[in-house]
Amino acid sequence: MATTRNTRPIRIGSLTIGGDAPMMVQSMAATRTQDVAATRRQLEILTSAGADLVRIAVDSAADVAALAAVIEGFSVPLSIDLQENYALAKDVAPFVQKLRYNPGHLHHHERNKSVEDKVRWIADVAQANDCALRIGCNAGSLAPDYKQRFGDDHTAALVAQAVDHCAFLDKIDFRDYCVSIKDSDPRLVIEANKKFSAERPDVPIHLGVTEAGMPPDGVIKTRIAFEQLISQGIGDTLRVSLTVPFEDKGQEIVVGRQILADIAAGRFRSVPKGFFDGLNIIACPSCSRVENERFIELAQEVKEATKIAAEHDLTIAVMGCRVNGPGETDDADLGLWCGPKTVNLKRGTETVGTYSYDEVVEALMGELKVLID
Ligand code: SF4
Repeated sequence: MATTRNTRPIRIGSLTIGGDAPMMVQSMAATRTQDVAATRRQLEILTSAGADLVRIAVDSAADVAALAAVIEGFSVPLSIDLQENYALAKDVAPFVQKLRYNPGHLHHHERNKSVEDKVRWIADVAQANDCALRIGCNAGSLAPDYKQRFGDDHTAALVAQAVDHCAFLDKIDFRDYCVSIKDSDPRLVIEANKKFSAERPDVPIHLGVTEAGMPPDGVIKTRIAFEQLISQGIGDTLRVSLTVPFEDKGQEIVVGRQILADIAAGRFRSVPKGFFDGLNIIACPSCSRVENERFIELAQEVKEATKIAAEHDLTIAVMGCRVNGPGETDDADLGLWCGPKTVNLKRGTETVGTYSYDEVVEALMGELKVLID
């Protein structure tokens, strides 16, 4: 379906997003990039499912070294997620058509350089290599200065951050960029994207509900946000983030296309009554940082074991790595973030303890019962 929105078209290799181009459906490899065979398999699965674009994350020189072997023989347009290491842009840009940077992660390195200078540098690299950019804002990784300025109003902070970064790129006349503003709560995704779109109706938007979790809830959360936004002409490309086994990652594309087909045909699914009441489990979709593939199984075990708390308004977060896990579990009542051999259990921002993959669900249930009581 074509959006009715008046964004400017941007080019990503042979693809166009924005303007009246059809909505593009994309996804991301969930495996460690250095595991060449597994990541090539992800590319195969996603392209066979019909992905228009596939994203791969790099976080180290070793990831960059693996990239050429990972992508050899694939013709699907590729985007690289720069995660926390924006300086890798110059090493990966020659291989791909798009770079995604997270404004909330630019402060980690070269602290003496301003964020605006770093953005200019990324844009220069992109321009020299004919790459588009995505300004990828995420509620779980807001830049510290925006957190300070906006306090608990994450939506306002996310929108302000996105608008400021657009201004940095506009200033140097870099035009091939889009923006994403993601949260795990679809209601906040709707609110933030509406606000951003009102401020910058010209900028193409990548839609997504981050850490939507496992089907069917993960699909419902995503559908809620996409139905509300796309039907109002907001959104030019989308990614569905689901916590599913790596072999099933094609589901992200299938679900994305199904939602688009339903919206185009006027088939809107009403949100099940009470969907936002009761236990909410959020889980990341996994990416190159995932520490142990048991993470997916663990998320499923957590879902099963915590059914006893279905009626309680609590949030449990299950995250796949030590980089984003600690921060992205802070707002949950109970959080699990995975290391290579152990899983860390948190109550709010406080650490309860570290457990083996076999023991952690029991420890979680102990904490859950205390909360319920
Ligand atoms: S929490 Fe870690 S493993 Fe999960 S998607 Fe985010 S960065 Fe990747």
